[in-house]
Amino acid sequence: MSVRVIVEKCKGCSICVKSCPFSAIDMENKIAVIGDACTGCGVCVDECPFDAIEKTEDNVKKDLSEYKGVWVFAEQREGKLMPVVIELLGEAKKLAAEIGTDVSAVVCGDEVDALTHELFAYGADKVYQAVHPELKNYRTDAYTKVIEEAINQYKPEIILLGATHIGRDLGPCLAVRCDTGLTADCTKLEIDPDDKKIRQTRPAFGGNLMATIICPNHRPQMSTIRPGVMDKAEYVAGREGVAIRLDVNFKEDEIRTKIIKIVKEAGELASLTDAEFIVSGGLGLGNPEGFELLKKLADKLGGTIGSSRACVDSGWIDHSYQVGQTGTTVKPKIYFACGISGAIQHLAGMQSSDYIIAINKNENAPIFEVADYGIVGDLYEVIPAILEQL
Ligand SMILES: Cc1cc2nc3c(=O)[nH]c(=O)nc-3n(C[C@H](O)[C@H](O)[C@H](O)COP(=O)(O)OP(=O)(O)OC[C@H]3O[C@@H](n4cnc5c(N)ncnc54)[C@H](O)[C@@H]3O)c2cc1C
Ligand code: SF4
Ligand code: SF4
Repeated sequence: MSVRVIVEKCKGCSICVKSCPFSAIDMENKIAVIGDACTGCGVCVDECPFDAIEKTEDNVKKDLSEYKGVWVFAEQREGKLMPVVIELLGEAKKLAAEIGTDVSAVVCGDEVDALTHELFAYGADKVYQAVHPELKNYRTDAYTKVIEEAINQYKPEIILLGATHIGRDLGPCLAVRCDTGLTADCTKLEIDPDDKKIRQTRPAFGGNLMATIICPNHRPQMSTIRPGVMDKAEYVAGREGVAIRLDVNFKEDEIRTKIIKIVKEAGELASLTDAEFIVSGGLGLGNPEGFELLKKLADKLGGTIGSSRACVDSGWIDHSYQVGQTGTTVKPKIYFACGISGAIQHLAGMQSSDYIIAINKNENAPIFEVADYGIVGDLYEVIPAILEQL
C-alpha cells in the first residue's frame, strides 16, 4: 500500500507531520508532502481531519500465478552445509507437499558438487548452483546479486533461509531487491488450506506475543527460520535431482563488501543444536563452578551443558551456551533445567524438547509448568544422587 496527499483538500494544518512515526511528511508551501521514508503504514490517513490523505494501491501488481516452488537457501561455510539447511529442507518438503509443488535449493560457493549431492539426498528436487571463486565466502552484495537474478528468472513461490547471521543479512537484502515481504526468525510455518498462502509465525515483543504474518500480494513469500526449531529432512543415500547452473557475472567493483580476514572466536564454543542431552544451569547454581557438576552429568549422558541468560549476563559462561529467545533454540531428547526459574524467554528456547526434567528448590517455580518430571530440591544434592544411580 502507498499513500498520497489530495492537494486540493489539504488545509496545511500539519497534524499529519507529527503523526507520522517515520518522519516522512514535510510541509512545503503549506501543503503536506510525503517523502521517501514513507513505509505506507497508513497512520496519517486516519489522522488527517480533512480526509486529505488517501491510500493508493500499488500500481504494479505481480502475477502471482507465475511463481512456483519452494526454495531453500543452502548456506555453506567452508564447504559444509549449515545444520539449519537440513531443517529447512525438512520443512520445505512438508510445505511443498501441501501446495503440490517441488523443493529446490540454491547454493553459492567456489565448489558445490559435493554439496549438491548432499542436498539431493536430503530431499531437494532441483539445485540451483552459483559457482565462482568470489562466492567461496559469504559477501552481502555478491550473494544478493546472484540470488536476486535467479529469483527473477525462475520465480519461486516461497524462499526459506536460516535465521543465522548470514541468513539475517541476506534475507532482507533479497526481499527489498525483489520488492516482497519477509518474516524474520519464524518458529512455525503452515499453509492456509483455503488460499494456499504461507502463514508465518514468529515471537514478537520479547516472546510475549506470537505474531502470524502473511504476504498476500507479493512473491516470493520469504521467511528466515530460527535454527533448531524445524524437524530435519531424512537422508536418502543416492537420491538424485536436477542441477541447474546459474549465470554468475558480476564485476568486482559492483561488490562493495570485501573480506579482509575471517577471525574465528577463540575458545570452546557450545554446539547445542545437535545435542541429544542438555544439562542446563541457571542462577540457582550460585556460582560459575556449579557448571562443573552439570558437566559431570552431561558427560555421563554423552551430552552438553547449557545455560540461562542470567548466568551469561553474570559472566559465568560464554553466550554460545545460552538457551532461549536471545540464545539458541534447542530440541534435545532430554533437557535438564537445574536452578532455572523458567522465565518465558528461557522457555521459548527449550519448550519443544522431548522430555524436560526440572530441578529447583522452589516448588512454585514456573519451570515446573512445562516439566515432564520435576524434582523439588537443592541441585547440589539431587544431581550427585542422580549421578550415583547412572
Ligand atoms: C528481551 C529478553 C530476552 C531474554 N532472553 C533470554 C534467553 O534467551 N534465555 C534466558 O535464559 N533468559 C532470557 N532472558 C532473561 C529471563 O527473563 C530471565 O531473567 C532468566 O532466564 C532467569 O534466569 P535463571 O532462571 O537462571 O535465574 P532466576 O530467575 O534467578 O532463577 C533461579 C532459580 O534457581 C532456583 N534455585 C536457587 N538455588 C537453587 C538450588 N541450590 N537448587 C535448585 N534450585 C535453586 C530458584 O528457586 C530459582 O527458581 C531474557 C530477558 C529479556 C527481557
Ligand atoms: S493533516 Fe491533512 S490537512 Fe493537515 S497538513 Fe496533513 S494532509 Fe494537510
Ligand atoms: S503512511 Fe505512515 S509512513 Fe507514510 S507518511 Fe503516512 S504515517 Fe508516515
